[in-house]
Amino acid sequence: MQPLFFWFHRVSMHVSGRFPPKLVVWFLLDNHMSHILHRKRYRKRLRYAVWQRFPQMSHLKMRFICGVLNPPRVRKRISMALTQAQHELPPKPHRRFNPLTGEWILVSPQRTRRPWQGQAEKPDPLDRPAYDPACYLCPGNIRAGGHKNPDYSKPYVFTNDFPALEPDDGHDGPPSPDHLLKVEPETGICRVICYSPRHDLSLARMTVREVQQVVDAWQAEYRELGARPDIGHVQIFENRGAAMGCSNPHPHGQIWANRSVPTLPATEGRCQAAYLAEKGDCLLCRYLSLEIARGERIILQNETFVVLVPFWACWPFETLILPRQHGGSIAELDAGQKRDLAEVMTRLAIRYDNLFQTAFPYTMGLHQQPTDGKNHPAWHWHIHYLPPLLRSGSVKKFMVGYEMLAMPQRDLPPEACADRLRSLSETHYRASDP
Ligand SMILES: [Zn+2]
Ligand SMILES: [Zn+2]
Ligand SMILES: [Zn+2]
Repeated sequence: MQPLFFWFHRVSMHVSGRFPPKLVVWFLLDNHMSHILHRKRYRKRLRYAVWQRFPQMSHLKMRFICGVLNPPRVRKRISMALTQAQHELPPKPHRRFNPLTGEWILVSPQRTRRPWQGQAEKPDPLDRPAYDPACYLCPGNIRAGGHKNPDYSKPYVFTNDFPALEPDDGHDGPPSPDHLLKVEPETGICRVICYSPRHDLSLARMTVREVQQVVDAWQAEYRELGARPDIGHVQIFENRGAAMGCSNPHPHGQIWANRSVPTLPATEGRCQAAYLAEKGDCLLCRYLSLEIARGERIILQNETFVVLVPFWACWPFETLILPRQHGGSIAELDAGQKRDLAEVMTRLAIRYDNLFQTAFPYTMGLHQQPTDGKNHPAWHWHIHYLPPLLRSGSVKKFMVGYEMLAMPQRDLPPEACADRLRSLSETHYRASDP
């Protein structure tokens, strides 16, 4: 193991050539930089600067010590850290089971050392006006379909002008020509929900009160759409950022409600029902108590919700919001629980933006029990956040090659990503902007 020295601003760094996850990196600071050690804010900035420049060290613990370079005492501490690191070999490649889908994912921690030459995304521009006359979601503007938005001041929901689904018109489609060429009619309703009248905001920059209004709207939509006899499932989701193919930066999400239960929620429903039948217990209640006892993948929590990086996460900074109380959907939440949901969503969104100091892109969505009129005692509702960013605000993970043909794979272990998300501030990095 070759020691490696380099300068980072006025910081000298000593690190081994390998990157096992618990390796401690010692930073030697000049004496006159000792104030950094005493101010948490500076230490955080320093950590962040190192992550930005050396993303492959994202899962390392950083410690700072002060003094002239390499005095004997400091050298001894470094050699102790390196000896310890030599004993902690990088975890071997392994696969992890996702009990919600019954699928495996491959984890290859040793690959975090490989050089990156892939595509760099352009981070989303941050400076936007509060109102954009060209935006079809801003209050008072005309949408592409010719409808005019009202002067809304709270979350505003409307039917998508170019919906992927259409309501039942009483006509069945053509019959299946063969059992291998199976066709079924699919009907439904697609709605758009503008989170805020402000074009320049996002969930990370809205107040908890404002986010709670979004949760109120989700609950009302789930109840209203789910009560219809022609709707068997309500999917609430958000696609955020150009890296996720979202064409409009105005803060908004979508609701697609259809007759049948779509593939992924149907799979999760089957797996949860099978677990309940086999073990006599709820899969996610049991998983949550396991995670709370271990603590290593938990990022934040309040009285009603826990936010964690799932053991089987396949996107680098993927997270799951889990309600502590067993329940099938947000229809059952009372006002205090909705406030608690808005609170964890806001705190998570701020940490995400702070991770790479960018408007963090993601796909986020609720998984809830079907609204097909049947009982679903095994369903424990939850929210998935599936963000694509990997090493910085501009490097995205692609699910291609082996992932498209064999199984999903990740490099950074989920625990390392949880460590990193946990270490971030809950004050937005742009909080002091006007
Ligand atoms: Zn807008
Ligand atoms: Zn449960
Ligand atoms: Zn799910």
